[in-house]
Amino acid sequence: MQFDAELLLLAMAPVFLACIGWEAWHLRRTRPGAQLYSWRDTLCNAALALMQQAADKLAWLAIIPVYAFFYDRYRIHTWPASWASFAVLFVAQDLLYYVFHRCSHRVRWLWAAHVVHHSSERMNFSTAFRQSLMYPIAGMWLFWVPLAVLGFAPTQIVAIVLINLGFQFFVHTQAIGKLGWLEYVFNTPSIHRVHHARNDRYIDRNYAGVLVIWDRLFGSYVDEDPRDAPVYGIVKPLHTYNPLRATFHEWAAMAADFSSVRGGRNKLRALFAPPAWAADYHARRAAGSAVSGEASSINENNTAAFGTSRRP
Ligand SMILES: [Zn+2]
Ligand SMILES: [Zn+2]
Repeated sequence: MQFDAELLLLAMAPVFLACIGWEAWHLRRTRPGAQLYSWRDTLCNAALALMQQAADKLAWLAIIPVYAFFYDRYRIHTWPASWASFAVLFVAQDLLYYVFHRCSHRVRWLWAAHVVHHSSERMNFSTAFRQSLMYPIAGMWLFWVPLAVLGFAPTQIVAIVLINLGFQFFVHTQAIGKLGWLEYVFNTPSIHRVHHARNDRYIDRNYAGVLVIWDRLFGSYVDEDPRDAPVYGIVKPLHTYNPLRATFHEWAAMAADFSSVRGGRNKLRALFAPPAWAADYHARRAAGSAVSGEASSINENNTAAFGTSRRP
C-alpha cells in the first residue's frame, strides 16, 4: 500500500466534478422544478471544501508524528505488505469511522465541527464537499490512533482515511435509487439520504462510512421509506451561504453557553453533552424569563435532556 492517497483523490477530482455535472443535468430533466442544486449552496460547499483541505494539510504535519510515536512505541503487530493487511486496515478504519461519526452526533464538541456537513438543506454530490476546517481541533484524528497501535504506519492511516472519505462522495445524491443486495453491505445513496434527513424517524441514524454492517450490528440502521421522503438539513436551519458562519456558528453558540451556565458540571455539559442539551438549556432559560422576567440559569443539579443532534 505504498501510494499517495492524496494524489489519488486529486486524480479523482475530474470524476467528482463530472458526477456533479451529470447529476445537475439529470435532475433538471427528471425532476424539473425541484431545484435540487443552487449556485449559492454549491459555491458555499466548494468554499468549505477548500478551507477544510487547507486546514487538513497543515494538521497532518502535526498529527503524523503523533501516529508515528504510537506506531514506533506501542504497536502490537507488524503487518507484511499484502492485500490481507490492507483488508484489516480497511475494516478497522471503517469501524472507527462509524464510532467517530456516531460520537459526532452525540457529543456537542464533535457536533460543532460535524454540523457543517449537515447544515445544507439540499442533498446532492456537492454536499459531500461540505466539511469543516475545525475537525483537527475537534479531534477527529484521535479516532485513528488505534490503527497505529494495531501496527499500521502513519502514511497508511492517512491513505485509508482519505480513501474512506473519497468513497463517501458517491453516496451524496438523490439521482440513484435503492441498489438491491448492496444495501445490506455498503453505505449507499439511499442509506445516506436517511442520514442527512431531519424527519423524526430518520434523525441520528445510518452513520456508516463504507460498510453499513456497523449500523445493522449496533442498532442504528433505518431504511429509507418512500412514504416519508427525507427532508434535509438541521432542525434549526442556518439560513446562510456564508462559509465562515457555517463553520463557526456552533462553536460560538457553545462558547456562549459555556460562559453563561453556572457550575463546573454544567460547563462540561455545555461542551460534551448531546447537542440537544443546548436546546433544553435555552428552552429552560426562555421559560424562566417568561416567568420571572429575567433570564434564569440551570443549576448544578439539573440533568440535561439527552436527545438528538439535529435539534441544536
Ligand atoms: Zn453525520
Ligand atoms: Zn454526508
